[in-house]
Amino acid sequence: MSFTFTCPKCGQIMQCEDEWRGMQVVCPGCQQTVTLPAISPAEAAVPVAPMNVDVPQNNVPQQPVFGAQPASTYGMPGQAAFRPPFKSHLAEAILATILCFIPTGIVAIVFASIANGLYNQGKIDEAFAKAKTANIMVWVSVGVGLVIALLWTVGNILINS
Ligand SMILES: [Zn+2]
Repeated sequence: MSFTFTCPKCGQIMQCEDEWRGMQVVCPGCQQTVTLPAISPAEAAVPVAPMNVDVPQNNVPQQPVFGAQPASTYGMPGQAAFRPPFKSHLAEAILATILCFIPTGIVAIVFASIANGLYNQGKIDEAFAKAKTANIMVWVSVGVGLVIALLWTVGNILINS
């Protein structure tokens, strides 16, 4: 989770992570040290909430330095989450179903579709696992299709000879 914090000294809006609560940070706008609120703005907005926020001044475990980063990229670590190149093998699955062997081809399509959905939900590891299964089923379809084609050809030759 992250939250926005407005610098009390210059008005710069910062995107902050929850783990940084109560810490001192260097504002990217004015380069001055400001202390982040120890509770979330939503909690602070509740009228009955006690306002005596206890921030130990001599116990700052970390000090993320924002000023060292360019202002344009600052504050978006969550949005710029790394996503490895992804291939669900859906196109191959459809081709394998049409051209090779329908039963395993359909299984490949189902797995590729699930993989696409998982990837869009950000479940990268699960998506790659499902895509791998889809890829295997594509090759099984191709293999079975080739065997069927071979048997069909041999059968025709035997019948016609
Ligand atoms: Zn500032």
